[in-house]
Amino acid sequence: MSLKFEIHPATNPASEKERAAKLADPGFGRVFTDHMAVVRYNRAKGWHDACVEARAHFPLDPAVAVVHYAQEIFEGLKAYKRDDGGVNLFRPDANARRFRSSAERMAMALLPEPVFIEAVEQLVRIDRAWIPGGEGSLYLRPFMIASEVFLGVKPSEEYIFAVIASPVGSYFKGGPAPVSIWVSENYTRAAIGGTGAVKCGGNYAASLRAQAEAIDHGCDQVVFLDAVERRYIEELGGMNVFFVFDDGSLLTPPLGTILPGITRDSIIALAKDSGTRVREEAYTIEQWRADAASGKLKEAFACGTAAVISPIGKVCSASGDFLISGGAAGPVAMGLRKQLVDIQYGRAADPHNWIRKV
Ligand code: PMP
Repeated sequence: MSLKFEIHPATNPASEKERAAKLADPGFGRVFTDHMAVVRYNRAKGWHDACVEARAHFPLDPAVAVVHYAQEIFEGLKAYKRDDGGVNLFRPDANARRFRSSAERMAMALLPEPVFIEAVEQLVRIDRAWIPGGEGSLYLRPFMIASEVFLGVKPSEEYIFAVIASPVGSYFKGGPAPVSIWVSENYTRAAIGGTGAVKCGGNYAASLRAQAEAIDHGCDQVVFLDAVERRYIEELGGMNVFFVFDDGSLLTPPLGTILPGITRDSIIALAKDSGTRVREEAYTIEQWRADAASGKLKEAFACGTAAVISPIGKVCSASGDFLISGGAAGPVAMGLRKQLVDIQYGRAADPHNWIRKV
């Protein structure tokens, strides 16, 4: 199924000067482009009223379902400016698929994948002047909220799907700096049968207390353990995790209760392409500590759309801290990072057909 998007350009977009000022140092997530894409759903009409229009507030009745029962999902992907001036999207089809599986888990209307991709492409086209050059990119945030006005607890019969866009600078100024992570022993992120494998807002609300605990302990990020035995490494608040061993092999926790990251999947593919053994296996915090001490573990890194790959330099927990690769960025993490970034910006061949040119 596809929908025809009506295009209503903003009557009062940012001037070139205003835009240049905002793009000079956009940071993350506070600067937005002039437009948004919106598609509406109700039971009677299905998906309808697809349009690209000036970014504006949504008028919402205070009784809409999302406000009370958090029926909400989202995605995150980026548009990159190529050296020839063209624009690349990285695996938007994978985000469209994951969005559908999130919708399924949250009992929401299923958005056809071509409509998701079209909405993203139309927004990138109209706001392409907002894509920063160099190592910056345009972060795209598709989301869907339950908009039926009803206080009963049941799946909404109305939804708003929208895409907004936010220019972001290079995540790490002066090269990737190793992050420190706090092992959350008080809070878990996901239980078997729960919502850990999908991208719903509630997962992030529930992670904030654990992230605050990480900050209180002087760490950058939190890493969660499994909810049953409280031993197996799951993932960070917003990134998956990989381990690199002395025989060159990689290990990453298996899918199930973690978010199936698109960066995670891409790293597995690139590593396998170059003949690296990759295991998707459970790994405990005790083993991590022991392998770091014995030297069997060479590197650990986190990965996700926002930062691509962040080396992990230090792990802190209530039972003591330990360093990984002396707290420095390791060559495997940095090599994979370069490989991935080069594909995203169109500087390297794209053997898996991940790039969609806009
Ligand atoms: N885990 C969580 C909990 C996340 O929020 C994200 C970011 N979407 C990831 C992993 C990484 O996913 P991706 O590589 O698709 O950005």
